[in-house]
Parts: sequence; C-alpha cells; structure tokens
Amino acid sequence: MLVMKFGGTSVGDGDRILRVAGLVGRHADDPPLAVVSAMGGVTDALLALSKAAQQGESSAADRALEEIGARHRGAVDAMCLAPSAAAACREEIGRELNRLEKLATGVSLLGELSPRTSDAIAAAGEMLSATLLTEALRKLGTRAVKIDPRALMATDASYGAAVPDEAGISSHLFERVLPERAAGRTVVTGGFVGSAPDGSFTTLGRGGSDFSAALFGAGLRDAGVPVEAIEIWTDVDGILTADPRIVPDARLIPEVSADEAAELAFFGAKVLHPATIRPAVTRGIPVVVRNTFHPGVSGTVVRADVAGRGVRALAARKGVAALFVGSPRMLMAHGYAARVFGVFEAHGVPVDVIATSEVSISTTVDEKAPIDAIVRDLSKFAEVHVLRHLAVVSVVGKGLRTTPGVAARIFSALGDVNAVMISQGASDTNVTFVVSADEASDALRRLHAEFFREDVR
Ligand code: ADP
Ligand code: ASP
Ligand code: MG
Repeated sequence: MLVMKFGGTSVGDGDRILRVAGLVGRHADDPPLAVVSAMGGVTDALLALSKAAQQGESSAADRALEEIGARHRGAVDAMCLAPSAAAACREEIGRELNRLEKLATGVSLLGELSPRTSDAIAAAGEMLSATLLTEALRKLGTRAVKIDPRALMATDASYGAAVPDEAGISSHLFERVLPERAAGRTVVTGGFVGSAPDGSFTTLGRGGSDFSAALFGAGLRDAGVPVEAIEIWTDVDGILTADPRIVPDARLIPEVSADEAAELAFFGAKVLHPATIRPAVTRGIPVVVRNTFHPGVSGTVVRADVAGRGVRALAARKGVAALFVGSPRMLMAHGYAARVFGVFEAHGVPVDVIATSEVSISTTVDEKAPIDAIVRDLSKFAEVHVLRHLAVVSVVGKGLRTTPGVAARIFSALGDVNAVMISQGASDTNVTFVVSADEASDALRRLHAEFFREDVR
C-alpha cells in the first residue's frame, strides 16, 4: 500500500485536482491513502483572515472569506462534476465558510486570537481540499471516501505545533481506514490537521502535511499493513542539489540518506518538512519525493542510509540574526556557557548555529525572536553585539568533516562573500556558515558551481 501526499501547488486548482485524482486512481487495485494539503496559498489566506479579524478589520476579513470561497467554488466549476457531486461540494464549502465566519466574528468581538482558535481557522484549507479530491476521484470512476483528519490524527493540545500520539493514530487507522480498504475504497484525508484530546482542531505546524503523511504511513505499518512507500508529490522532480528557484541548474538527487534529508530540511530546503523522515525511517519505510507534473520521473528516495559520501546538496535559510556574546573576564569561567544559554531558554528561544571563539559565544536565532529582551538580559553579565538580516547556508553530505579539502573548496568558492560565523555542525553531515541575507543566493550559486559542475562529479 502507498501513502500519497499532495502539496498545495499539486491541488492548486480544479484541473490539477483532477490530475492528482488520475495519479491516485492508478492504484485502485491496492487503494492508497491520499493525504492532501490546502490549495496553494489558502493556509496563508486563512491566517491573514485570523489576523484581520483580531485587529477588527472586518472588511479585510470579509474579503478574505470571499476569496477563499471563490477559489474553492472555482475549482468545483473547473472539475465539471456531476450535478449532485458539485452540489455536495458547494454545500461543504458553504458549511466550512459558515464555520469560519462564526470563528472570525468571535475573534473580532474579543479582539483576541488564541492558538486554539487560530488552528480551528487554519484547518479549513485541508478540510476543503480533501472534499474536492474525493469528488474528483469519484468522477474518474475510483471508489473513494473522505475521512475527517480529526478522526485519524490524534495529537496533544499544543496548538500550532501539536505533538502526535502515534499509538492513537495507528489504532484510528486500523478502525477507520482498514475497513474502507477492505471494501476497495480509496481513503482521502487532509494533512496538517489533527485533533486534541478534547476534540478541538490542532495543526502540526507550517508544511505539516508531509509530517501527516509520514505519521499515517508509520501508523498503518504499526497496524500490520505493508506500506511500500510514503510518496510526497510536489512541484519539483524530487530533492535537488539546491533550491531551483535560486540555482536554476540544480540537479535531481536520486537517493539521499535520512540524515542528509533531515539536515537539508532543517537548513531551509522547503521541499520536505523536517520531521517527516523520523516515523518513516525508524520503520524502514522509504519516503519518495515526486513531481505531480512529471509523474514519469522517479524522484528522490530517502532511506535510512545510502551509499556514497561527500557533498550531496546545499540549503539556505534566511530570516536569521546572530548574537555575539563576549565577556573576556568570564568566558572560561565555570558555568558561563550555561548562563548564556539559560537566557535563551528563559525566553523560549531555540538557538540555532553555535560557534565559540576565545572571547565570545556566537549563536544564531530566528530574526522574529524577542532579540531586544534577550540582549537586555545578556547585557547584565556580558557584552552583546547583534547582527541582523543574515542567512544560514549549509553544505550537506555524509562524512564531510572527514573528507579532506571540503572546507578549503567551500571557502575558496565563496571568494569575497564574507562568512560572519562558521560551524562544522555537531554531526558529520553538514558544514554551516552565516552570511548576509543579501549574499545568500550568490553564495549558493558559487558553491553549486564548485561542487556540482558537470565535469567535477
Ligand atoms: P508543497 O506545497 O508540495 O509541499 P513546497 O513548496 O513545500 O511544496 O516544497 C517544494 C518547493 O521546495 C519547491 O518548489 C522548491 O522551490 C523548494 N525547494 C527548496 N529547496 C529545494 C531542494 N533542495 N530541492 C527541491 N526543492 C527545493
Ligand atoms: N497547508 C499547510 C501549510 O501551508 C500544510 C502544508 O501544506 O503542508 O503550511
Ligand atoms: Mg511543503
């Protein structure tokens, strides 16, 4: 059995949803579990709706609702469904919009948007796209049924980044999905969305549909179903040597190890959600990244381990600030590092890339973190210097630390691009450095030319 997940671009309009239904329907003899994201841009629109409601901007909120409705109704029209199926879709869209309208009214009356309510609003995109794909499958003659993701994806109540309950998910899959499969029906559900113990909506965090697919694959395996692969269908041929939007000649990587894929995702390769690999890899299920628009391409297989070492791919993540924390008197003093990191901890801010020198400890953090408050606390015992508008660039591959000459090649390729911070990483799988955000794309292109020139490989 396959778990097939389709991202936002793949289900971006009615024609695309029909295309996806064609890909899913090919497996009707061994019905897959189809997991869908919201139509591209819809989750952003829902979050904008929440914000507008919270700020009492009722006309902006109305407009957002109107656009979300129009987008989905447009897809229903483009799919040319049978009248009864089209009516069922429109009814479902109407119900979801009503629910959203009520939530938005509540938020604007209170002027308050709790994480719980934000999730209840953000979940609407996946609820709707699952309805559309189910009807598209039926139109193409595939027997299909939609199951509400809340009935499958059991989580805790950490709204916005809910923690899955893997045993609960597996037992829900056993009870709900297996009987449908046995009856020859393909199950469609929404990614990203889950349900807290009290039944309220939760979400797994942005990009979380990949994680949903992996958790469902793992849960099915735990329920005794042979899951061949978790397929992540997107708008590129697979995992490439760099983001093709920045490096147009980036190349497809046929296979990557789970460690490499996890590092790439963490360091900014948006193609896969960082948490996706773990539930799959621990059970030996391959994750395959494929292109909805080039289904003939076999994509990238992510496995626990793959042959070969050396530079595999590059990634960059913008929106980063660096804090250089120096205290010449105290650097080597017992407990100093704990004190520095304790400040970040107290503000609930994870530190990212870390480097130390004789006179300072440097760390990067998300630019949106409460940097001023952190600096105020650190300044009580250290001198702090902040650099904003930076990007973390990472060179990823197995055995990098022990491959002679990699660092030299990286820094000679960078030329006059200045690295303000360098870290080999705690693992042997990346060399990471920090540059000005304005230079990040240039750095990626230079490194790509160095490591992936046709004649170099
Ligand atoms: P989806 O909506 O299908 O989940 P995403 O937008 O989350 O798709 O991820 C796909 C995008 O990831 C691609 O369009 C590409 O621009 C970007 N991307 C970044 N780094 C890479 C990489 N190394 N390989 C492939 N795609 C990448
Ligand atoms: N729709 C959600 C998002 O945009 C989840 C996903 O697409 O994976 O973040
Ligand atoms: Mg994604």
